Amino acid sequence: MVSAFELKGKVAVVTGGNGGIGLGMARGLAEAGAAIVVAGRSRDKSLAAVKELTGLGARAVALEVDVAHEESVNALIRGTLDQFGRVDVLVNNAGINIRKQPQDLTLSEWREVLDTNLTSAFLTSRAAYPAMKAQGGGKIINIGSMMSIFALPVVSAYAASKGGLVQFTKACATAWARDHIQVNAVLPGWIDTELTQQARRVIPTLHDSVEARTPEGRWGVPADMAGVAVFLASPASDFLTGAVIPVDGGYSVRG
Ligand code: NDP
Repeated sequence: MVSAFELKGKVAVVTGGNGGIGLGMARGLAEAGAAIVVAGRSRDKSLAAVKELTGLGARAVALEVDVAHEESVNALIRGTLDQFGRVDVLVNNAGINIRKQPQDLTLSEWREVLDTNLTSAFLTSRAAYPAMKAQGGGKIINIGSMMSIFALPVVSAYAASKGGLVQFTKACATAWARDHIQVNAVLPGWIDTELTQQARRVIPTLHDSVEARTPEGRWGVPADMAGVAVFLASPASDFLTGAVIPVDGGYSVRG
């Protein structure tokens, strides 16, 4: 019997798949049988990720992309189709944060965050849509944040981008359901990655306060993101679309 979680023969593009949460998801997808396109800016990081994924028995390639730029994104999807002939799964994971009070953000910083975290998902999804439609379906997984729900004084651009990503997810889900393209969002809790190591250096109390507030009593790790990625990429989730799923050790439901 073929497992509902089987990804053999599927091709997954993971933006920011060369580290942190993206690589955690890519490992899960690779172990479930998918071929992986590791899409990032840093060639060295991407090649290291490809080596690791290949070691898991997966087909994997690194394609360089700046997700904030239309031509670069179009080239990523063209490159994927050239190499593999299809694109079944798109994980919109690449993201950045610039931590400043709103009054201190420059317009170019605001745009950099919005372009990297939100406009990027529009560009990649739009580029992948024709191939997914022609194939008879696809899966798009957008990575939001606790800042899709909550806010802090220094995350105005980041929270705007991640809140927008949730609404973009719902709109695409309704637009593309009849094409059998499911579009869902994952909201990670606090996960130990380069991004949050930097945050912990700036906010010394962050480590303990996250641990104390998270019902599971710990920070997440990239491997915690693998299961939800496989679920949302596989036939197991064919009737799930427009959903927004926190994977946060209970952080968002604690009163
Ligand atoms: P990392 O900083 O470890 O990874 C970010 C990834 O995004 C890198 O792989 C980076 O690749 C890529 N990236 C950034 N900008 C671009 C760009 N312009 N073009 C292409 N790739 C880009 O962070 P995380 O793994 O923590 O974050 C991954 C996602 O998860 C982000 O969207 C983040 O907002 C979200 N998130 C993280 C949480 C956490 O606690 N860690 C919590 C909630 C959400 P490269 O270095 O090659 O540019």
